[in-house]
Amino acid sequence: MKLLSHLDGELLALDGNALRRKRRTAESPCTPHVKVDGRAMLAFCSNDYLGLASHPLLIEALREGAGRYGAGSGASHLVSGHSRAHVLLEERLAAFMSPHLESAGAISFSTGYMANLAILSALGGPDTELFSEELNHASLIDGARLSRSSVKVYPHCDLAALEQMLHASAMQKKLVVTDSVFSMDGNLAPLPQLLALCERHDAWLVVDDAHGFGVLGENGRGALEHFSLRSPNLVYMGTLGKAAGVAGAFVAAHETVIEWLVQRARPYIYTTAAPPALAHALLASIDIIEGGEGKQRRAHLRSLIRQLKDSLRLAQWQHMDSGTAIQPVVIGENEAALRAAAKLEEGGFWVPAIRPPTVPVHTARLRITLSAAHASDEVERLALALNKIEKEI
Ligand SMILES: *Cc1c(COP(=O)(O)O)cnc(C)c1O
Repeated sequence: MKLLSHLDGELLALDGNALRRKRRTAESPCTPHVKVDGRAMLAFCSNDYLGLASHPLLIEALREGAGRYGAGSGASHLVSGHSRAHVLLEERLAAFMSPHLESAGAISFSTGYMANLAILSALGGPDTELFSEELNHASLIDGARLSRSSVKVYPHCDLAALEQMLHASAMQKKLVVTDSVFSMDGNLAPLPQLLALCERHDAWLVVDDAHGFGVLGENGRGALEHFSLRSPNLVYMGTLGKAAGVAGAFVAAHETVIEWLVQRARPYIYTTAAPPALAHALLASIDIIEGGEGKQRRAHLRSLIRQLKDSLRLAQWQHMDSGTAIQPVVIGENEAALRAAAKLEEGGFWVPAIRPPTVPVHTARLRITLSAAHASDEVERLALALNKIEKEI
């Protein structure tokens, strides 16, 4: 069939450019010690930054939630799927984020991808100019398209360029959209300056804190706490499948914004509500994040980040300047990055090679992620292996 042979040709072209992706099968829970495709490996690739994904208290809470609420929600939130567990989670998240938002409300989503589609499609529109950071996550790019706003991409962390664009905009509604922690680089957006610009130009600032929530800030409130921000202009998106260790996402903002999302966000309205048991487990997760154990885990993670920086001795490859749990090593060409990942794998380390289009061409990289579940000698072993492999390649 012609349609299939066309796809076969396209797939061969991916092979030719070392761009074909393979899914690995994990046969154990998400911890640094995984069994993947039958083999024991030390993993540096999950976004389980606090090591909560297989925490006994969360597993227990998930069981308890299933017992109390059943397996599925049965319908969308506006029909009959909105359970007590969802209400309790939203109230908890609104209270948790309230130091940083005026009249805080929160709404939960099945995934961060959908939350981003929801925010941008509900707040944007043909009467909106949407200013999107160059390195934004794919879900924000797709949300911007779905919103039918006029989209302007501003260069990475370039405040002067953004200010000019805002100044030049005649559009009534303005939306500035950014990742807080850039997912393939690990650096932080200049949120205080972005917020000041947004307040001056009467624009919303949409912050995607997928890699900050639970990890950044004294109490794990993420990038807003890290930078001590508070403003009615903020629309905050945090994910719950990364540091929070379960699944889903939430938006926290002024309660009027939240009410608008309930009324108008199609990725919220036209989908079955997530299983209430997940919301129940997430209540336990927020307790850990906010409590003493969360603080300890964040402190341990910070010490591992420092340790990796101190132990890497790279001459050709570029260890990016990141203060977060995302610690990329840029290698350049796709084949070289794949070879480095394969060598690491031979040594029992699981580190993914990230290639275009996820990152710009010629910047293929190893994306090392650290977790509070790693031990310090494991990070040491990874650094030594990287130092050695760089010389070999
Ligand atoms: C992971 C991620 C998302 C999507 O969140 P999911 O809950 O995995 O759908 C959105 N934005 C960024 C920056 C992410 O890294």
